[in-house]
Amino acid sequence: MKGLLLTSLNPVKLSVSEIEKPVPGPDEILIKVKAAAICGTDLHCLQGDSTVGSSLPVLLGHEYSGIVEQIGNAVSGFKIGDRVTGETTAYVCGECTLCRSGWYNLCAERKIIGYASHGAFTSYIVAPKQFVHHVPDEVSFEEAALTEPVCVAYHAVIVRSSLSAGQKVVIFGPGPIGLACTLMARMKGASEIVVVGIQGDEDRLKVAGTIGADRITALKGDSAKDWVEAIGLSGHVDTVVDAAGPNPIVEAAFQLLKPGGEIIKLAWDLSPLAFSISPLVIRAYRIQGVFSHTWPMWEAVLSMMGSKKIDLEPLITHTFPLSRWQDAFDILIQKKGIGVILTPED
Ligand SMILES: [Zn+2]
Ligand SMILES: [Zn+2]
Repeated sequence: MKGLLLTSLNPVKLSVSEIEKPVPGPDEILIKVKAAAICGTDLHCLQGDSTVGSSLPVLLGHEYSGIVEQIGNAVSGFKIGDRVTGETTAYVCGECTLCRSGWYNLCAERKIIGYASHGAFTSYIVAPKQFVHHVPDEVSFEEAALTEPVCVAYHAVIVRSSLSAGQKVVIFGPGPIGLACTLMARMKGASEIVVVGIQGDEDRLKVAGTIGADRITALKGDSAKDWVEAIGLSGHVDTVVDAAGPNPIVEAAFQLLKPGGEIIKLAWDLSPLAFSISPLVIRAYRIQGVFSHTWPMWEAVLSMMGSKKIDLEPLITHTFPLSRWQDAFDILIQKKGIGVILTPED
């Protein structure tokens, strides 16, 4: 089978290569891939600055859906032909306190599909049975391939955030996760949802406006002070969601939030902070980091998708055959698309 294989990170060597079709172990499911979405982390990989440990050579792609092709002999609950999607987790230890308490997304031994084991930019992928989920009939394969970023948003806004009905939220970053956070903030009944991007994000911000944002803003420059002026609401915001990463977002949040407000941080910046965090104490803010997701979140999101409580259709902007992966990546680098899907050709 053909797959998008990463063979070197420095320099980056990525190409469509011929690799062997995998065989499922006793606890694994072989899935025929129908759709796989490109994630921002894949772009970082292509730009050579991946913070995710990779074991090379590896097939990229960790947001996917497909059809069960074959099951290991210890697998129950799935049959050949089932429509499924899979979590990003390829392996966790199962023994540590985090694994045993359901927070296996934070297991120190966790390995991620598409970086530490073969991913889904190919025709077949093998996934451990405990990380595979059924896709409701009402959900297309393309939508199902976007379950993963929506689970990040669900974890952030529904599970971790204290945002309540009638409150105000500012969401930084109109990529797939920020847009999914917009859907979740609407589910929670936020009275004012402001989605913020930078110059070049105009197309994505427009989509934010169609799925629930009350206001969209493309910021200029890189000063937190200017950003706060452009956003308004200074001192009146209940929750700031950072789905973009740059440190000045935290500095801006310190001015946007009312005392006791919260910052939900989904993205990061490797450079040290260049401002004081004293407002965190004297205005009693809370910063909550959110990483990945767990099994119940996947079930909840798929159920919301199945009952059309959330509609991911507006987030699917492009579909390309695997051979045109470079065009697909370019569209995301130029911020022309949101959900960009690759489909296998054999
Ligand atoms: Zn991802
Ligand atoms: Zn563990």
